Amino acid sequence: MAPMFVPGPVDVDGEVLRAQTRPMLPHRSKEFEAIYARAADKARQLFLTTHRVFIMASSGTGLQEAAIRNFVEQKVLTCVNGAFAERWHEVALSNGKQAGKLEFAWDEPVEPQRVADTFRTGNYEALAIVHNETSTGMQNPVREVAQAVHTIAPDALILVDAVSSLGGVKIEMDAWGLDMVLTSSQKCLALPPGLALGAVSDRAMQKAEKVTDRGWYFDLVRMEKHRLKDSTPATPAMSLVYALDMQLDRILAEGLERRFARHAAMAKRVQVWAETHGLSVYAPEGFRSQTVTTIKNERGLDVSDLNAYLMKQEMRIANGYGPLKNRTFRIAHMGDTKLEDIDKLLVAMEEYLKNH
Ligand SMILES: *Cc1c(COP(=O)(O)O)cnc(C)c1O
Repeated sequence: MAPMFVPGPVDVDGEVLRAQTRPMLPHRSKEFEAIYARAADKARQLFLTTHRVFIMASSGTGLQEAAIRNFVEQKVLTCVNGAFAERWHEVALSNGKQAGKLEFAWDEPVEPQRVADTFRTGNYEALAIVHNETSTGMQNPVREVAQAVHTIAPDALILVDAVSSLGGVKIEMDAWGLDMVLTSSQKCLALPPGLALGAVSDRAMQKAEKVTDRGWYFDLVRMEKHRLKDSTPATPAMSLVYALDMQLDRILAEGLERRFARHAAMAKRVQVWAETHGLSVYAPEGFRSQTVTTIKNERGLDVSDLNAYLMKQEMRIANGYGPLKNRTFRIAHMGDTKLEDIDKLLVAMEEYLKNH
Protein backbone atom coordinates (compact mmCIF):
# COMPACT_ATOMS: atom_id res chain seq x y z
CA MET A 1 0.00 0.00 0.00
CA ALA A 2 1.24 3.49 -0.83
CA PRO A 3 1.66 5.41 2.41
CA MET A 4 -0.12 8.70 2.40
CA PHE A 5 1.49 11.45 4.45
CA VAL A 6 -1.46 13.72 3.78
CA PRO A 7 -3.67 15.08 6.56
CA GLY A 8 -6.70 12.97 5.76
CA PRO A 9 -7.93 10.69 4.46
CA VAL A 10 -5.07 8.68 5.88
CA ASP A 11 -4.16 5.04 5.33
CA VAL A 12 -6.52 2.50 6.80
CA ASP A 13 -5.27 -0.89 7.99
CA GLY A 14 -6.40 -3.84 5.87
CA GLU A 15 -8.09 -5.58 8.77
CA VAL A 16 -10.12 -2.43 9.47
CA LEU A 17 -11.04 -2.07 5.79
CA ARG A 18 -12.23 -5.66 5.78
CA ALA A 19 -14.35 -5.13 8.89
CA GLN A 20 -16.61 -3.11 6.60
CA THR A 21 -17.48 -6.17 4.55
CA ARG A 22 -19.38 -7.74 7.42
CA PRO A 23 -23.01 -8.38 6.42
CA MET A 24 -25.66 -5.79 7.17
CA LEU A 25 -28.01 -6.12 10.09
CA PRO A 26 -31.35 -4.44 10.70
CA HIS A 27 -30.26 -1.26 12.45
CA ARG A 28 -32.97 -1.70 15.07
CA SER A 29 -31.72 -5.20 15.91
CA LYS A 30 -30.20 -6.09 19.27
CA GLU A 31 -27.04 -7.31 17.50
CA PHE A 32 -26.37 -3.99 15.82
CA GLU A 33 -27.36 -1.93 18.84
CA ALA A 34 -24.79 -3.82 20.91
CA ILE A 35 -22.02 -3.01 18.41
CA TYR A 36 -23.08 0.63 18.24
CA ALA A 37 -23.22 1.01 22.00
CA ARG A 38 -19.84 -0.59 22.62
CA ALA A 39 -18.18 1.54 19.93
CA ALA A 40 -19.57 4.71 21.51
CA ASP A 41 -18.47 3.50 24.91
CA LYS A 42 -14.90 2.81 23.79
CA ALA A 43 -14.82 6.18 22.03
CA ARG A 44 -15.34 7.96 25.34
CA GLN A 45 -11.91 6.80 26.42
CA LEU A 46 -10.33 8.67 23.52
CA PHE A 47 -12.00 11.92 24.50
CA LEU A 48 -11.06 11.35 28.15
CA THR A 49 -14.65 11.97 29.09
CA THR A 50 -17.34 10.30 31.13
CA HIS A 51 -19.93 12.12 29.00
CA ARG A 52 -21.67 10.87 25.87
CA VAL A 53 -20.18 10.43 22.41
CA PHE A 54 -22.42 10.79 19.37
CA ILE A 55 -21.53 8.95 16.20
CA MET A 56 -22.89 10.67 13.11
CA ALA A 57 -22.99 9.62 9.50
CA SER A 58 -21.33 12.76 8.19
CA SER A 59 -17.86 14.20 7.95
CA GLY A 60 -16.52 16.44 10.71
CA THR A 61 -17.97 19.60 9.18
CA GLY A 62 -21.42 18.19 9.94
CA LEU A 63 -20.60 18.33 13.62
CA GLN A 64 -19.23 21.88 13.29
CA GLU A 65 -22.73 22.69 12.09
CA ALA A 66 -24.34 20.62 14.86
CA ALA A 67 -22.31 22.47 17.48
CA ILE A 68 -23.65 25.79 16.22
CA ARG A 69 -27.23 24.62 15.77
CA ASN A 70 -27.49 22.98 19.19
CA PHE A 71 -25.41 25.08 21.51
CA VAL A 72 -25.70 28.64 20.22
CA GLU A 73 -28.95 30.55 20.56
CA GLN A 74 -27.59 33.84 19.21
CA LYS A 75 -23.97 34.71 19.72
CA VAL A 76 -20.78 32.73 19.32
CA LEU A 77 -17.18 33.84 19.19
CA THR A 78 -14.91 32.03 16.75
CA CYS A 79 -11.14 32.22 17.04
CA VAL A 80 -9.65 32.25 13.57
CA ASN A 81 -6.02 31.55 12.70
CA GLY A 82 -6.45 29.18 9.80
CA ALA A 83 -8.75 27.78 7.15
CA PHE A 84 -10.77 25.34 9.25
CA ALA A 85 -11.56 27.94 11.89
CA GLU A 86 -12.57 30.24 9.05
CA ARG A 87 -14.93 27.52 7.85
CA TRP A 88 -16.48 27.16 11.30
CA HIS A 89 -17.08 30.90 11.40
CA GLU A 90 -18.84 30.68 8.03
CA VAL A 91 -20.88 27.74 9.31
CA ALA A 92 -22.06 29.89 12.21
CA LEU A 93 -22.98 32.82 9.96
CA SER A 94 -24.75 30.65 7.42
CA ASN A 95 -26.86 29.18 10.22
CA GLY A 96 -28.08 32.66 11.04
CA LYS A 97 -26.03 33.20 14.20
CA GLN A 98 -24.22 36.35 15.19
CA ALA A 99 -20.68 35.13 14.97
CA GLY A 100 -17.90 37.29 16.30
CA LYS A 101 -14.54 36.65 14.75
CA LEU A 102 -11.34 37.03 16.70
CA GLU A 103 -8.56 36.87 14.16
CA PHE A 104 -4.93 36.01 14.62
CA ALA A 105 -2.18 35.78 12.05
CA TRP A 106 -2.02 32.27 10.61
CA ASP A 107 1.47 31.83 12.02
CA GLU A 108 0.39 32.79 15.53
CA PRO A 109 -1.49 30.68 18.06
CA VAL A 110 -4.79 31.76 19.55
CA GLU A 111 -3.93 33.88 22.56
CA PRO A 112 -5.93 33.12 25.74
CA GLN A 113 -5.88 36.64 27.16
CA ARG A 114 -7.20 38.19 23.95
CA VAL A 115 -9.99 35.64 23.87
CA ALA A 116 -10.93 36.43 27.46
CA ASP A 117 -10.85 40.19 26.78
CA THR A 118 -13.12 39.78 23.78
CA PHE A 119 -15.47 37.63 25.81
CA ARG A 120 -15.65 40.25 28.52
CA THR A 121 -17.09 42.82 26.13
CA GLY A 122 -19.12 40.62 23.79
CA ASN A 123 -21.77 38.79 25.76
CA TYR A 124 -21.04 35.55 23.92
CA GLU A 125 -22.71 32.25 24.80
CA ALA A 126 -20.05 30.03 23.35
CA LEU A 127 -16.54 29.85 22.00
CA ALA A 128 -15.66 27.91 18.86
CA ILE A 129 -12.00 27.02 18.51
CA VAL A 130 -9.91 24.64 16.42
CA HIS A 131 -7.42 22.61 18.42
CA ASN A 132 -5.15 21.56 15.58
CA GLU A 133 -5.24 23.82 12.52
CA THR A 134 -4.56 21.41 9.70
CA SER A 135 -3.97 24.26 7.25
CA THR A 136 -1.01 25.63 9.20
CA GLY A 137 0.17 22.84 11.48
CA MET A 138 -0.61 24.95 14.53
CA GLN A 139 -1.75 23.44 17.79
CA ASN A 140 -3.77 26.06 19.65
CA PRO A 141 -3.56 26.16 23.47
CA VAL A 142 -7.15 25.04 23.99
CA ARG A 143 -6.69 24.19 27.63
CA GLU A 144 -5.39 27.68 28.49
CA VAL A 145 -8.03 29.36 26.32
CA ALA A 146 -10.81 27.38 28.00
CA GLN A 147 -9.42 28.30 31.40
CA ALA A 148 -9.31 32.01 30.52
CA VAL A 149 -12.90 31.94 29.23
CA HIS A 150 -14.15 30.00 32.25
CA THR A 151 -12.79 32.73 34.51
CA ILE A 152 -14.62 35.52 32.65
CA ALA A 153 -17.78 33.68 31.59
CA PRO A 154 -18.34 30.48 33.57
CA ASP A 155 -21.56 29.64 31.70
CA ALA A 156 -20.09 29.95 28.23
CA LEU A 157 -19.75 26.70 26.32
CA ILE A 158 -16.39 25.72 24.89
CA LEU A 159 -16.74 24.02 21.49
CA VAL A 160 -13.62 22.40 20.08
CA ASP A 161 -12.85 21.14 16.60
CA ALA A 162 -10.28 18.41 17.18
CA VAL A 163 -10.74 16.87 13.75
CA SER A 164 -7.07 16.39 13.00
CA SER A 165 -5.80 15.71 16.51
CA LEU A 166 -8.23 13.66 18.55
CA GLY A 167 -6.81 10.17 18.88
CA GLY A 168 -3.26 11.39 18.21
CA VAL A 169 -2.87 13.98 20.93
CA LYS A 170 -4.12 13.99 24.48
CA ILE A 171 -7.19 16.20 24.78
CA GLU A 172 -8.72 15.99 28.22
CA MET A 173 -12.31 16.98 27.62
CA ASP A 174 -13.50 16.72 31.21
CA ALA A 175 -10.37 17.98 32.96
CA TRP A 176 -10.16 21.02 30.67
CA GLY A 177 -13.87 21.76 30.99
CA LEU A 178 -14.72 21.42 27.30
CA ASP A 179 -18.37 21.14 26.27
CA MET A 180 -18.08 19.65 22.84
CA VAL A 181 -15.13 18.02 21.17
CA LEU A 182 -15.65 16.85 17.62
CA THR A 183 -13.63 14.81 15.17
CA SER A 184 -13.79 13.00 11.82
CA SER A 185 -13.05 9.36 11.11
CA GLN A 186 -10.49 9.88 8.35
CA LYS A 187 -7.73 11.63 10.26
CA CYS A 188 -6.15 10.51 13.54
CA LEU A 189 -8.59 7.63 13.94
CA ALA A 190 -7.32 6.12 10.67
CA LEU A 191 -10.72 5.09 9.38
CA PRO A 192 -12.36 5.70 6.02
CA PRO A 193 -14.15 9.07 5.74
CA GLY A 194 -17.85 9.28 6.53
CA LEU A 195 -18.20 9.27 10.30
CA ALA A 196 -18.00 12.15 12.73
CA LEU A 197 -17.67 11.65 16.47
CA GLY A 198 -18.66 14.29 18.97
CA ALA A 199 -18.41 14.18 22.76
CA VAL A 200 -20.83 16.50 24.55
CA SER A 201 -21.02 17.62 28.19
CA ASP A 202 -24.17 17.49 30.31
CA ARG A 203 -24.38 21.25 30.58
CA ALA A 204 -24.19 21.57 26.81
CA MET A 205 -27.08 19.08 26.49
CA GLN A 206 -29.09 21.16 28.97
CA LYS A 207 -28.42 24.27 26.93
CA ALA A 208 -29.47 22.52 23.70
CA GLU A 209 -32.90 21.82 25.10
CA LYS A 210 -33.49 25.56 25.29
CA VAL A 211 -32.16 26.38 21.82
CA THR A 212 -34.81 26.58 19.13
CA ASP A 213 -34.45 25.62 15.45
CA ARG A 214 -31.89 22.92 16.02
CA GLY A 215 -32.91 21.34 12.75
CA TRP A 216 -33.67 17.61 12.50
CA TYR A 217 -30.73 15.53 11.32
CA PHE A 218 -28.18 17.14 13.62
CA ASP A 219 -30.55 17.68 16.53
CA LEU A 220 -28.48 16.28 19.38
CA VAL A 221 -31.42 16.32 21.79
CA ARG A 222 -33.16 13.90 19.45
CA MET A 223 -29.94 11.92 19.06
CA GLU A 224 -29.63 11.72 22.84
CA LYS A 225 -33.12 10.25 23.27
CA HIS A 226 -32.20 7.49 20.86
CA ARG A 227 -28.68 7.09 22.21
CA LEU A 228 -30.08 6.22 25.60
CA LYS A 229 -31.69 3.23 23.87
CA ASP A 230 -28.47 2.44 21.91
CA SER A 231 -30.07 3.58 18.68
CA THR A 232 -30.15 6.47 16.22
CA PRO A 233 -33.00 8.54 14.73
CA ALA A 234 -31.87 7.75 11.16
CA THR A 235 -30.01 4.82 9.62
CA PRO A 236 -26.41 4.73 10.84
CA ALA A 237 -23.44 4.21 8.49
CA MET A 238 -23.32 0.58 9.51
CA SER A 239 -20.17 -0.56 7.66
CA LEU A 240 -18.22 2.36 9.06
CA VAL A 241 -19.45 1.56 12.55
CA TYR A 242 -18.10 -2.00 12.13
CA ALA A 243 -14.75 -0.49 11.18
CA LEU A 244 -14.88 1.98 14.07
CA ASP A 245 -15.60 -0.79 16.53
CA MET A 246 -12.53 -2.71 15.37
CA GLN A 247 -10.25 0.31 15.07
CA LEU A 248 -11.06 1.45 18.60
CA ASP A 249 -9.96 -1.98 19.82
CA ARG A 250 -6.70 -1.58 17.93
CA ILE A 251 -6.19 1.94 19.29
CA LEU A 252 -6.86 0.89 22.87
CA ALA A 253 -4.62 -2.16 22.44
CA GLU A 254 -1.76 0.13 21.39
CA GLY A 255 -2.52 2.18 24.50
CA LEU A 256 -3.45 5.86 24.41
CA GLU A 257 -0.25 7.09 26.03
CA ARG A 258 1.85 5.07 23.59
CA ARG A 259 -0.22 6.34 20.69
CA PHE A 260 0.27 9.96 21.77
CA ALA A 261 4.00 9.37 22.29
CA ARG A 262 4.27 7.86 18.80
CA HIS A 263 2.67 10.95 17.27
CA ALA A 264 4.96 13.25 19.28
CA ALA A 265 8.03 11.27 18.18
CA MET A 266 7.01 11.46 14.51
CA ALA A 267 6.39 15.21 14.79
CA LYS A 268 9.79 15.74 16.39
CA ARG A 269 11.50 13.66 13.71
CA VAL A 270 9.96 15.75 10.93
CA GLN A 271 10.68 19.06 12.67
CA VAL A 272 14.34 18.18 13.23
CA TRP A 273 14.68 16.92 9.68
CA ALA A 274 13.31 20.19 8.28
CA GLU A 275 15.58 22.30 10.42
CA THR A 276 18.68 20.35 9.48
CA HIS A 277 17.87 20.68 5.77
CA GLY A 278 17.66 24.43 5.41
CA LEU A 279 13.93 24.55 5.97
CA SER A 280 11.87 25.72 8.89
CA VAL A 281 8.59 24.84 10.52
CA TYR A 282 5.73 27.28 9.94
CA ALA A 283 4.24 27.15 13.45
CA PRO A 284 6.23 28.63 16.34
CA GLU A 285 7.94 26.37 18.84
CA GLY A 286 5.61 25.27 21.61
CA PHE A 287 2.56 25.36 19.32
CA ARG A 288 3.57 22.84 16.70
CA SER A 289 1.08 20.22 15.68
CA GLN A 290 1.85 16.67 16.73
CA THR A 291 -0.08 15.26 13.79
CA VAL A 292 0.85 17.38 10.76
CA THR A 293 3.91 19.53 10.15
CA THR A 294 3.74 22.51 7.83
CA ILE A 295 7.18 23.31 6.45
CA LYS A 296 8.09 26.63 4.86
CA ASN A 297 9.29 26.08 1.32
CA GLU A 298 12.37 28.24 1.79
CA ARG A 299 14.29 26.32 -0.85
CA GLY A 300 11.69 27.18 -3.48
CA LEU A 301 10.99 23.54 -4.28
CA ASP A 302 8.41 22.64 -6.89
CA VAL A 303 6.00 20.83 -4.56
CA SER A 304 4.16 19.03 -7.37
CA ASP A 305 7.43 17.78 -8.80
CA LEU A 306 8.55 16.63 -5.35
CA ASN A 307 5.29 14.76 -4.93
CA ALA A 308 5.60 13.18 -8.39
CA TYR A 309 9.03 11.92 -7.30
CA LEU A 310 7.66 10.56 -4.03
CA MET A 311 4.74 8.90 -5.77
CA LYS A 312 7.18 6.86 -7.87
CA GLN A 313 8.15 5.38 -4.51
CA GLU A 314 4.51 5.04 -3.54
CA MET A 315 4.41 7.87 -1.05
CA ARG A 316 2.78 11.25 -1.10
CA ILE A 317 2.75 14.44 0.96
CA ALA A 318 0.40 17.45 0.85
CA ASN A 319 0.93 20.86 -0.65
CA GLY A 320 0.29 23.94 1.49
CA TYR A 321 -3.34 24.85 2.08
CA GLY A 322 -5.07 27.74 0.29
CA PRO A 323 -2.90 30.85 0.45
CA LEU A 324 0.02 28.74 1.73
CA LYS A 325 0.07 26.55 -1.39
CA ASN A 326 3.63 26.17 -2.77
CA ARG A 327 4.88 28.55 -0.06
CA THR A 328 4.65 25.60 2.32
CA PHE A 329 4.14 21.87 2.16
CA ARG A 330 2.72 19.53 4.76
CA ILE A 331 3.78 16.17 6.08
CA ALA A 332 1.08 14.41 8.05
CA HIS A 333 2.09 11.93 10.73
CA MET A 334 -1.21 10.81 12.07
CA GLY A 335 -3.32 7.72 12.50
CA ASP A 336 -1.46 4.44 12.29
CA THR A 337 1.65 5.89 10.60
CA LYS A 338 4.83 4.63 12.20
CA LEU A 339 8.17 6.26 12.85
CA GLU A 340 9.80 3.95 10.30
CA ASP A 341 7.31 5.11 7.64
CA ILE A 342 8.37 8.68 8.37
CA ASP A 343 12.04 7.70 8.14
CA LYS A 344 11.44 6.13 4.75
CA LEU A 345 9.73 9.29 3.55
CA LEU A 346 12.52 11.51 4.84
CA VAL A 347 15.17 9.38 3.12
CA ALA A 348 13.31 9.83 -0.17
CA MET A 349 12.95 13.56 0.41
CA GLU A 350 16.63 13.81 1.18
CA GLU A 351 17.45 12.12 -2.13
CA TYR A 352 15.22 14.61 -3.90
CA LEU A 353 16.83 17.59 -2.17
CA LYS A 354 20.31 16.44 -3.23
CA ASN A 355 19.32 16.93 -6.84
CA HIS A 356 17.24 20.10 -6.48
C1 LIG B 1 -10.34 18.01 7.91
C2 LIG B 1 -10.74 19.07 8.89
C3 LIG B 1 -12.06 19.55 8.96
C4 LIG B 1 -13.10 19.11 8.00
O1 LIG B 1 -13.44 17.81 8.27
P1 LIG B 1 -14.34 16.96 7.24
O2 LIG B 1 -14.34 15.62 7.89
O3 LIG B 1 -13.63 17.02 5.93
O4 LIG B 1 -15.66 17.61 7.20
C5 LIG B 1 -12.37 20.44 9.94
N1 LIG B 1 -11.46 20.88 10.82
C6 LIG B 1 -10.18 20.46 10.78
C7 LIG B 1 -9.21 20.98 11.77
C8 LIG B 1 -9.78 19.55 9.81
O5 LIG B 1 -8.52 19.11 9.77
